[in-house]
Amino acid sequence: MGSHKAKPKPTEFTCTRCGNCCRGEGHVYLTPEDVKRISESLGLSRETFLKTYTYRHNRRPVLTNKPNMDCIFLEKSLCAVHDVKPRQCTKWPFWKTVATDPASFSMAKSYCEGLKEFEFEDFKKVAEREELLPRP
Ligand code: SF4
Ligand code: SF4
Repeated sequence: MGSHKAKPKPTEFTCTRCGNCCRGEGHVYLTPEDVKRISESLGLSRETFLKTYTYRHNRRPVLTNKPNMDCIFLEKSLCAVHDVKPRQCTKWPFWKTVATDPASFSMAKSYCEGLKEFEFEDFKKVAEREELLPRP
């Protein structure tokens, strides 16, 4: 009688395609496999791709941003290279930092719509089923 049902805890992550993880500061680092896959899909040589779409940070290639800080490949909130997107993007938000560090989780939750309903502990449980990205 009059019992108050607690909201069910989220049991899986669902991306709302808000595009927020592709905007703003933050580096999209590319692995050598990412560079190969994306340059091939764009029909560019590795060198031309690197020169046109990346710069170096911590001695690794990183995707450039548009003047408004959107990722260079973000188009109308969608990824223009979706099928070949960088590993780092494919794994989001299942990064080790997000799943193990409450501060990183809060930061991620502040802009990722799919994390909105999650508390850290719930996300940790869901993340246990995933292979986490060790570091970006
Ligand atoms: S490569 Fe695609 S998924 Fe990754 S940040 Fe850019 S637009 Fe987003
Ligand atoms: S911020 Fe989260 S919900 Fe939005 S597109 Fe990225 S992964 Fe999906």
